[in-house]
Amino acid sequence: RRGSTFFEKKKKKLAALKDFRERTLVAVKPDGVQRRLVGQIIQRFEQRGFKLVGLKMLEASEELLSEHYCELRMKPFYHGLLRYMTSGPVVVMVWEGHNVVQTSRTMVGHTNPAEAPAGTVRGDFSIHVSRNVVHASDSVEGAQREIQLWFQEKDILNWDCCDQTSTGD
Ligand code: ADP
Repeated sequence: RRGSTFFEKKKKKLAALKDFRERTLVAVKPDGVQRRLVGQIIQRFEQRGFKLVGLKMLEASEELLSEHYCELRMKPFYHGLLRYMTSGPVVVMVWEGHNVVQTSRTMVGHTNPAEAPAGTVRGDFSIHVSRNVVHASDSVEGAQREIQLWFQEKDILNWDCCDQTSTGD
């Protein structure tokens, strides 16, 4: 009896931990980088309360992008999309926190900026669906797939907040 309570508590604790460890991939697309929006986009995610655990800037290869956008390869805009995404560097990030996938999608706004409310990244910074500034994974499974595609495990860092640890130095 006592034993099962112990394990139940442990299971609950682990589940809570997992909940706060949800991750998503957010990328500032080439137009966002060129328009100097990187800082403002990072600021929104930090301010919201998410934790930055991965960050890099790169010129994405067509190979990587064709994997990333594999579900869209039959779309009429697919080739234009690849040209857009290779038109300059992108800043790719992994953000962590409770419900981060869903909340990020809300923060980023509708794919078509005309339908993205003010206050969302796309609603505030873009006007055309083919130059919509930012990417955010659309599901927990999709996020896992995309994070593996863009990051090596060693480049995702776990860190503790200074207000939860003693200085000890
Ligand atoms: P989201 O990025 O919101 O998840 P999708 O996965 O449907 O949206 O599309 C991926 C990206 O393809 C969009 O963010 C946008 O850059 C581009 N895209 C989508 N629809 C169109 C379109 N009709 N014309 C041009 N580009 C598009």
